[in-house]
Amino acid sequence: MTVDYVQAIKEQLHEKDSNQTEFLQAVDEFLATVTPFLEKHPEYEENNLLAILTEPERLIQFRVPWQDDQGKWQVNRGYRIQFNSALGPYKGGLRFHPSVNLSILKFLAFEQIFKNALTGLPIGGGKGGADFDPKGKSDGEIMRFCQSFMTELSKHIGPNLDVPAGDIGVGGREIGYLFGQYKRLCQYDAGVLTGKPLSFWGSLIRTEATGYGVVYFVNHLLAYNKDSFEGKRVLVSGSGNVAIYAIEKLQQLGATPISCSDSNGTIIDEAGIDLDLLKEIKEVKRERLTAYKEARPEAIYVEGSLWDQDVAAEIALPCATQNEINLEQAKQLVKNGVKVVAEGANMPATLEAAEYFIDNQVHYCPGKAANAGGVAVSALEMSQNSQRLTWSKEEVDQRLEDIMKNIYETCRDTAKEYDAENNYMLGANIAGFANVAQAMLQQGLV
Ligand code: GLU
Repeated sequence: MTVDYVQAIKEQLHEKDSNQTEFLQAVDEFLATVTPFLEKHPEYEENNLLAILTEPERLIQFRVPWQDDQGKWQVNRGYRIQFNSALGPYKGGLRFHPSVNLSILKFLAFEQIFKNALTGLPIGGGKGGADFDPKGKSDGEIMRFCQSFMTELSKHIGPNLDVPAGDIGVGGREIGYLFGQYKRLCQYDAGVLTGKPLSFWGSLIRTEATGYGVVYFVNHLLAYNKDSFEGKRVLVSGSGNVAIYAIEKLQQLGATPISCSDSNGTIIDEAGIDLDLLKEIKEVKRERLTAYKEARPEAIYVEGSLWDQDVAAEIALPCATQNEINLEQAKQLVKNGVKVVAEGANMPATLEAAEYFIDNQVHYCPGKAANAGGVAVSALEMSQNSQRLTWSKEEVDQRLEDIMKNIYETCRDTAKEYDAENNYMLGANIAGFANVAQAMLQQGLV
């Protein structure tokens, strides 16, 4: 029976990778939804495709030595996970954060396979990063770290092989330093990284793409349900580029985003987030959110998670990091009136929280569908780089919106097809998996 096959794959992985909790969580969520698809397509079970799919094609781990401003040598651990290349070159961001380890990067790379497949663009799944903490580091330290990181990474990437981009802790500044070092070591090859600054081969709208994309996704969902953002109170967590540009698009569409957060605390601003102030603090001054409260005393600042605050809202967009919403917090959100949860971050809801949302008629939009706008515009950046052309802001934005609409409709329709209406988790997993599985089989499962 197919359920037994899926269960056996799960048990094997839990035994082999017992310490990789985040990776197992991502795989468990995926496996919990794909049985009905596998029953319709027996060729995948016959060929043991799940066992092959859950094993990364290649894992690269390396040391990153660098010198701090005091002249002392430091070392961090660098990684690149090349998980699946059935649909194209490995594609996915680099994360610089002290929590980074193999489990977290494997979960992110695994999610990326299906996210990238859902965009409909020719990109495989990968992820990388380092347990380096950019917080409090000088520009010079960041530059020396990026140069050392790229000295090793450059041996493993290329425009037709593996194209990294940003993620937590890696933005335009870091991509610039990484690109400079790649150029020095290899050759000028613009398409080797995406999320590049606009001054050299970057794409318009790439910075905004993930945040705009998650809001476009929800906008289509609301429209389909004869509703809109007009007058809605929205909880947003995080204060990186995903949160900032989600807030921007929410305001453009008539909603009131009332919160943002960083790893220390949460801002609740009942009048609506002051976007110019937030951008100034985060993008220009690179300060903490306590500076927001200082500049705007009427806002509330509390230490701790947004999801522990008892505030009424209709929509929640978790845009910070993995596992930021647990079951108890999910229950409180539902009690406080939240009807839509769309993930700007990767896996911000635990599996129990996600299942609670689905079981309680919340429109739960998983990250691999709702936050695909970032990587989608990365793929558009690759197209522009290949053409040696720059598309207008309007053109990229329109393509982004079309892609998000298409992903929403695909998840919705796939869920319906499998008698699981409104279960976008199932819809996203099956629709993404269907493309990858077919390509893998057609390529001889290599
Ligand atoms: N890090 C982003 C993500 O989680 C973007 C990756 C990319 O642009 O390649 O999808």
